[in-house]
Amino acid sequence: MSDLTRMTAVEIAAKVADGEVSAEEVTRAHLDRIAAVDGQVHAFLHVDADGAVEAARKVDARRARGESLGPLAGVPVAVKDVMATRGVPTTAGSKILEGWRPPYDATVVERLRDAGTVILGKTNMDEFAMGSSTEYSAYGPTNNPWDLGRIPGGSGGGSAAAIAAFEAPLAIGTDTGGSIRQPGAVTGTVGSKPTYGGTSRYGLIAFSSSLDTPGPCARTVLDAALLHEVMAGHDWRDSTSIPQPVPPVVEAARLGLTGDLTGMRLGLVTQFDGEGAEPGVMAAFRDALAALTKLGAEIVDVSCPHFEYALPAYYLIAPSEASSNLARFDGVRYGLRVGDDGTRSLEEVMSLTREAGFGPEVKRRIMLGTYALSSGYYDAYYGQAQKVRTLITQDFNAAFEQVDVLVAPTTPFVAFPFGSRTSDPYQMYLADLFTIPTNLYGGPGISVPCGLSEGLPVGFQIMAPTMADDRMYRVAAALESAVGTLTPPSLEG
Ligand code: GLN
Repeated sequence: MSDLTRMTAVEIAAKVADGEVSAEEVTRAHLDRIAAVDGQVHAFLHVDADGAVEAARKVDARRARGESLGPLAGVPVAVKDVMATRGVPTTAGSKILEGWRPPYDATVVERLRDAGTVILGKTNMDEFAMGSSTEYSAYGPTNNPWDLGRIPGGSGGGSAAAIAAFEAPLAIGTDTGGSIRQPGAVTGTVGSKPTYGGTSRYGLIAFSSSLDTPGPCARTVLDAALLHEVMAGHDWRDSTSIPQPVPPVVEAARLGLTGDLTGMRLGLVTQFDGEGAEPGVMAAFRDALAALTKLGAEIVDVSCPHFEYALPAYYLIAPSEASSNLARFDGVRYGLRVGDDGTRSLEEVMSLTREAGFGPEVKRRIMLGTYALSSGYYDAYYGQAQKVRTLITQDFNAAFEQVDVLVAPTTPFVAFPFGSRTSDPYQMYLADLFTIPTNLYGGPGISVPCGLSEGLPVGFQIMAPTMADDRMYRVAAALESAVGTLTPPSLEG
């Protein structure tokens, strides 16, 4: 494997800026790596080799003209297939969007292009970002580079696996209930969910609009922070985008790397302590806590009594919003159309298209959401869930009066074998037990590798107050400085 694919984004950008290596060489090295290993990993749904080489050449030309390059210029990035990319297939992992090429770029994609990053292609995901394993992708699952018989997490398993397998140094994901952090945890990579509204949702195929948050995936905390800074910031095209400066996440990551956390108070959520988590996960989590204490952090027990209702509240709110958002896939506007032979009514064509185009988990969510929103049940389900959401927000606000950040394992369990949780939806939903409260509150959360359990990666989660994303990067970088990064066993062997 080429050394170029082993480098961090920071190293690549520095070498491209110095002219030590061209952006085109970096891009070709990653395309070669994809050709060599993606048959085994299946992280990508679409590789845009021509577009990538063209973008890289533009960076090289700008450098040749003496133009100043941004901090990530010439660095390859993989994009979750839920983000619209102009002229490049975008399916959200669904058959219903097969063949759709958006006529526009999502804002975060546009910002990646403006920053001179090189988009390699689109990554695999659970259909419409509903799932925790990529087993619900209509195009087949992604395999975890640590063990090809296990899940890479989900819904953004493709993005996480791509960076873990050195197919890309950076990737973009979206986190509605954990889909950046959970795949990060189980692939031994860094996954960060920014504050809701801190990154634009314009051009993101909507799942649950009050929760969906684009964010960075990387192999190091500093790389994640650099990508965060490039993709974040106010966007007038998204009405929930926050009109404030991006929190100083890169500066915070650099500060954290000095390994000093003196004065930082970390809240240990007592409700999550051991609750449903594998012993090996808890052991790695506790070792990380001890390491953080050595760096000067103080650990404080914090009670968040309503967190135990987060999962049921999420599984009412997210499907309700999804049932409304997914109504647009009607066989008229985009992608698939079934049964349009001149003999059938519009309703029949819509029904046949949705029957054929949506997979079982998406149908389950649409039915759940439609039921929860129906008159007569609205107050009992959706209304009640919104009240629980308020209580969870109050728990976070009270906690952040006592501590700077909250900490917990990212996931209750390490990467599980394919097929072991698909027969019981609830078992799959449990994968996000520790990540979902943050989405309901709207604050930022990051998962950073903290060790192994049974030879598989364990993630350490740090949650911060809204628009204090910098705090979690500081703690995450400090932890990385103490425990290092993780590298999966060789795929070539
Ligand atoms: N696994 C959760 C779900 O299935 C979260 C998904 C996500 O964050 N997109 O809804």
